[in-house]
Amino acid sequence: NAGRGSVFNAEGQQEMDASIMCGKTLAAGAVAGIHNVKNPIRLAHKVLAHSDHVLLAGEGAIQFAKQHDITFEENEYFYNKYRFEQWKKLQGSTKSQLDHSEEKDKYFGTVGAVALDQNGHLAAGTSTGGMTNKKFGRIGDSPIIGAGNYANDKTCAVSCTGTGEYFMRGVTAYDVSCLMEYKGLSLVEAAKQAIQKLTQLGGQGGLIALDAQGNIAMPLNCPGMYRGFRQGDGRGFVGIFGEEK
Ligand code: ASP
Repeated sequence: NAGRGSVFNAEGQQEMDASIMCGKTLAAGAVAGIHNVKNPIRLAHKVLAHSDHVLLAGEGAIQFAKQHDITFEENEYFYNKYRFEQWKKLQGSTKSQLDHSEEKDKYFGTVGAVALDQNGHLAAGTSTGGMTNKKFGRIGDSPIIGAGNYANDKTCAVSCTGTGEYFMRGVTAYDVSCLMEYKGLSLVEAAKQAIQKLTQLGGQGGLIALDAQGNIAMPLNCPGMYRGFRQGDGRGFVGIFGEEK
């Protein structure tokens, strides 16, 4: 559910959000409510690298993309039959839906990545089509720095997926960082507590998180989240359901 194959909104359109953040400088770039941009995360990076702003939305973001050599595609490129049928079931209702909880084996949610380089610098990126049948103009947590995406070399890099409104209210990605910075919690404990707080709010989803020592946490409170990691020594893991790494 990002770029090509994104979910459909209540108007039958694919509107996308993305953000990227550098843990060394705290520089960040984000785009929200964009359409027809082939790789929304590339546009978020352009905002980081080539503007004085952090978040550009809608037609302003599209205009910026045209000025910065970003590739556009026609609607047909983004179309996905499975996504369209998901939307058709909800069309006309006021319900919006997260696909993590819908059908087993089909937990194709938001795409997020966190990375640590050999110099100890962290980064986080998150890209999404949002929630099926979301209102036209609805923006989720993914492009909101601190809600769905955050990186700071002092603490951690975090990328979230789930019911965005709750991650925004819980400021969940930053919450993991704060629990480490102010309470001295380990990454794993901080990530666990942030998801517990999300659960108390009524939110559903999970996050992937990494600290500057290479510790990894991937807690979730929903049936499934496609996730994995690869370490410098070649060790890796992939998971779909609630299994621990
Ligand atoms: N967090 C995304 C949003 O609310 C949806 C998802 O993660 O699948 O826009």
